Amino acid sequence: MKILRSPAAMTAWSEGLRREGVSVGFVPTMGALHEGHRALIREARLRCDALVVSIFVNPTQFGPQEDLARYPRPISHDRAICRQEGVDVCFEPTAEAMYPTGFQTTVTVPAIARRWEGESRPHHFAGVATVVTKLFGMVRPHRALFGQKDFQQSVLVQRLVNDLNLGVDIVVRPTVREQDGLAMSSRNVYLSPDERRRAVTLYKSLQAGAAAIRTGETDAKTVRSAMVRVIQGEPAMTIDYLAVCDPITLEPLPTVARKAVLLGAVRLGTVRLIDNMLAAAKQVRRHP
Ligand code: AMP
Repeated sequence: MKILRSPAAMTAWSEGLRREGVSVGFVPTMGALHEGHRALIREARLRCDALVVSIFVNPTQFGPQEDLARYPRPISHDRAICRQEGVDVCFEPTAEAMYPTGFQTTVTVPAIARRWEGESRPHHFAGVATVVTKLFGMVRPHRALFGQKDFQQSVLVQRLVNDLNLGVDIVVRPTVREQDGLAMSSRNVYLSPDERRRAVTLYKSLQAGAAAIRTGETDAKTVRSAMVRVIQGEPAMTIDYLAVCDPITLEPLPTVARKAVLLGAVRLGTVRLIDNMLAAAKQVRRHP
């Protein structure tokens, strides 16, 4: 496996392969790789001839009060996972190479970025959209894989690629969970053992909402109340947002006629957890 730090070397490597008709797959990450990342890497390995994983803790997507300084950076462990999974290039650009003196362009996707994560983290999605655009420019992949874990991010990336004709095929893969249902996340290492036990409540809340929809509840307020009740049963947890949304626009739904995505963010001690679940309304059999 090659470790590349220079954006120019990264582009030269990809361009060389593209000219030979080799398909280039890409999994962008911030490192601290876990089974969720591994699932994306495996899927990419199956779908592409050559595979690049980037590890870059992007400072511009963190707010001033957020965890940039303490974000885990176990680089040897991350490289070992990449080697095990047959990654061809581990791309590890520096912040200076990403944002050199004079850098000023920002990519924004305003409507998608406005709500939910965007409300709690005002500059987050501009940071994400800009770094994804830059990474695509450097890596020049045919295909890139993202996790459903960050549902709003996956919707934003698909919009961005369509709007700017970036020519990258975006694949979104399901969330990988711990045995009890907690969505895997690099930030789970911040949880104390006690918080870790309590953290599953967010998943249970989403499950309660999805179960209500599946069994015929169509009023989004009632579905949301079912989710809120579960979180309220865990006094250590506070709700940042819980929402029943259209999976394409991410706008809140008044009624769930077909599909919905349940989005949730909570705080547990100093840790902020996010998760989501897709749900389909019970099919109503219509008699002629
Ligand atoms: P991150 O390193 O947190 O920026 O995540 C890199 C990619 O891995 C993103 O596309 C995430 O959505 C995805 N990802 C993170 N956690 C999971 C998970 N538990 N299951 C599937 N994909 C995930």
